[in-house]
Amino acid sequence: MTKEYVKDVTSMEDDFAQWYTDVVTKAELIDYSSVRGSMILRPYGYAIWENIQQQLDKAIKKTGHENVYMPLFIPESLLQKEKDHIEGFAPEVAWVTHGGEEKLTERLCVRPTSEVLFAEHFKSIIHSYRDLPKLYNQWSNVVRWEKTTRPFLRTLEFLWQEGHTCHETDEDAHDETVRMLNVYAELCEEYLALPVIKGQKTEKEKFAGAKYTYTIESLMHDGKALQSGTSHHLGDGFAKAFGIEFTNREGKLQTVQQTSWGFTTRIIGAMIMVHGDNRGLVVPPKIAPTQLMIVPIAQHKEGVLDYAYNLKEQLSGSIRTGIDASDKKPGWKFNEYEMKGIPLRLEVGPRDIEQEQVVLVRRDTGEKQTVSVANLEAEIQQLLTDIQNHLYEKALKHREEKTSIAKTYDEFKETLNEKSGFIKAMWCGDQVCEDFIKDETGATSRCMPFVQQKLSDQCVCCEKDAKHLVYWAKAY
Ligand code: AMP
Ligand code: ZN
Repeated sequence: MTKEYVKDVTSMEDDFAQWYTDVVTKAELIDYSSVRGSMILRPYGYAIWENIQQQLDKAIKKTGHENVYMPLFIPESLLQKEKDHIEGFAPEVAWVTHGGEEKLTERLCVRPTSEVLFAEHFKSIIHSYRDLPKLYNQWSNVVRWEKTTRPFLRTLEFLWQEGHTCHETDEDAHDETVRMLNVYAELCEEYLALPVIKGQKTEKEKFAGAKYTYTIESLMHDGKALQSGTSHHLGDGFAKAFGIEFTNREGKLQTVQQTSWGFTTRIIGAMIMVHGDNRGLVVPPKIAPTQLMIVPIAQHKEGVLDYAYNLKEQLSGSIRTGIDASDKKPGWKFNEYEMKGIPLRLEVGPRDIEQEQVVLVRRDTGEKQTVSVANLEAEIQQLLTDIQNHLYEKALKHREEKTSIAKTYDEFKETLNEKSGFIKAMWCGDQVCEDFIKDETGATSRCMPFVQQKLSDQCVCCEKDAKHLVYWAKAY
């Protein structure tokens, strides 16, 4: 008999980075490719992305948006049109210089984001206020030549959606920016069980070419923050650069007001780093490709497999149910599906069948319970709801424990060293202080939360008058 390889992961307390790498590979989410920073999404990783995508696509359509598809390449001259934008993205752009053996007369960039492609298109299709609003979304890949990379969190190529909209007024564009940030926040909290802080990015951290950027920020298990989605009010910067004009209700020519917003495969990294543990991945039930895995016990005994398959058949109508009837040992299977973070395991053997019961085991708590087959489906549904809620509550509690207040710079440094996590501290609004804090401590301004408080009158850094409450943290 061949030895069955039982997987395990490095303990997250010993080495969080190695733990993460172990989980993404051993749970079979990704494999590395031969290009640095590019990853292969394996079936299980892709299935999780598909569930997130379906949920988000529904919400994007429900808020009135239509899906479109733009080309992959951007001519250099087009990218050059909006100055701030090109300045921000130039260091991260990949260029195509040849077609076959022939040198191109103009370089083409592989889209890092598609604002300029949309801008050119909007110019050709928008003429009157009657053409507005234009509410477009694209599902695609983009490429950003990142210096340091990590699966999901920061890759050279990633999958995302990017929304691009045009409006008559500044206020309409503002409302849209808020609306889509809320769509992201709801997806994170309701489906991925990830609590988020909503707020505005500082000038330093905003999107290149935007008037302002709204963000959702989440906190990972190791106390580092992750920007989990962004929504930008673009104002009329692109509209002016590209001449996107329309005849307004008074018969006068006016430039449109635009927004853009993006959400990427990065969020799977957040899900791993917030919910995972030393047994591997933990996937929230609402986005789990398999919510319940049936493991037959003593499956060689007569009737066991038939019974298990029957259960799968019955449950599959309302619960995403899998079964492992391979000839591997139950212990191997338990380990494997814990590694993959499947929310519930169902064990059923000859004795259970006799007593008309099964055993259910929760992935999040490890709790085991015996349940009568009579109301099995309702019990499972209830447990899935409980697991979903428990994951959210646990993540929220962790974030709260790792959120501190600092009123002086000494307090700031001390907290960051001892506890990491989010630090709430006042800021004067001057980028000099932001740069100083980053250079000295490694913490960046994550956002100025929408819910502002006045913790003190002075900037935590320079002690001048405080203007904003800021969440600071070391971040991925
Ligand atoms: P942006 O278009 O720069 O606002 O980016 C949209 C979102 O993409 C950000 O909020 C990040 O969450 C995510 N993101 C940015 N860079 C990467 C990357 N290299 N890999 C994965 N996700 C990314
Ligand atoms: Zn200051």
